[in-house]
Amino acid sequence: MLDYMQQWPKLSKDTIRTIVFNALEENVNFYEENILGIPGSHLDNKVFYQDAPFLKDAPYLTALIHNPNHIGCHTLEKSESFFKGTHQLERELIALCAEQILQAEAESCDGYVAAGGTEANLQAIWIYRNYFRNRYGVSNDSICILCSRDSHYSMSKAANVFNLDIAFVQVEDDTRSLNEEHLQQVIQEKKTQGKNHFIVVANMMTTMFGSVDNVDTYTAALEAHGCLFRMHVDAAFGGFLYPFTNPDNTLNFRNKHITSVTLDAHKMVQAPYGTGIFLIRKGFMQHANTKEASYVEGEDYTLIGSRSGANAIAVWMILMTYGRYGWEEKTTTLLNRAAWLTHELDKAGIAYYRDPFSNIITIRSGFLNKEIATRYGLVPDNHQQPNWYKVVVMDHVTIDRLLPLLQELQAYQEQNCLLEREQV
Ligand SMILES: *Cc1c(COP(=O)(O)O)cnc(C)c1O
Repeated sequence: MLDYMQQWPKLSKDTIRTIVFNALEENVNFYEENILGIPGSHLDNKVFYQDAPFLKDAPYLTALIHNPNHIGCHTLEKSESFFKGTHQLERELIALCAEQILQAEAESCDGYVAAGGTEANLQAIWIYRNYFRNRYGVSNDSICILCSRDSHYSMSKAANVFNLDIAFVQVEDDTRSLNEEHLQQVIQEKKTQGKNHFIVVANMMTTMFGSVDNVDTYTAALEAHGCLFRMHVDAAFGGFLYPFTNPDNTLNFRNKHITSVTLDAHKMVQAPYGTGIFLIRKGFMQHANTKEASYVEGEDYTLIGSRSGANAIAVWMILMTYGRYGWEEKTTTLLNRAAWLTHELDKAGIAYYRDPFSNIITIRSGFLNKEIATRYGLVPDNHQQPNWYKVVVMDHVTIDRLLPLLQELQAYQEQNCLLEREQV
């Protein structure tokens, strides 16, 4: 691992360009070498520029055109030697996310750049299902996925794909925190059905609310019931924000109960789609080994198979452009804007939910109508029967852009108050 990864400093454009071009240089070169055995090559040269002069200043576009295949998992012993230069950049990215963001010990995690948060969540559940089968000899009938009802729909997808039972824990309407009584009830009920092995998925910012689960609630309840469990953190939304805004949180690799984490660089990091990130403690990836992938050097441990190396490079470039302090500044700005909005909503008496460390503000549907929601592109929890609408404070969501929404909400609120007074 290169030294500069230890601290996550900010790198200059020139340095980044040099590192990416050097990595591409170490990959196989379809233009000059006589490579006859792989069903891959650079992008079609009738359609895509190969030697346009601007490419020499465009490392990401050059990587797209070179089209390296990142099939497999490169943090394990072996992987395709054809693309070893850019595989190394992916390894550095995985180490950076695990160690600099999620507080793992050096070289203690495996991982890869997945298609998205969905694939990374599926990968985790796939691994734990096989882990319980391999380690305890149990069948699917003894295994249950456990998560809150605010969890992303990919958990339901995983239950379906891997043929597993899934149980949803109720959350409190106001605080979106786990209902402990219901959690106890669910565990008891599943145990009587013979399910004593749980795959827990804890949220670091849910999609709709930005709420964060208290993992101790899960671990205490499951330990009290004598259940076996493995815990995955779905940080697809929060992973590049929450660890910076709330550095004392316990949803990371310092917590011995947590084995794996999903991140999504195509959300807060504004990377191209196709940049989910899957991280897992060493020793678990092997449960997803497909030995039949014998033509792949190093075999395959991922759900996806072939995938573009340009994706890993894009995320690496973004994170190295900011550096740790630049990234902290970015997240602070988003949080300040979110705090500004909630302050104004409080003054206007508009009800909403927001975790104090998150950039999502979810407004109760009674405080606006469909027209306002549509005009500002606010997303409902349910398109048929909305109870909530959310604002996500992204880079482009400045206070200047929030102001007109706030004014409409205030006007709507005043109008409603007047109506109410008339009715009295
Ligand atoms: C977006 C999201 C996902 C799924 O991510 P995709 O990249 O769309 O596959 C999973 N979990 C949470 C909490 C998310 O916000």
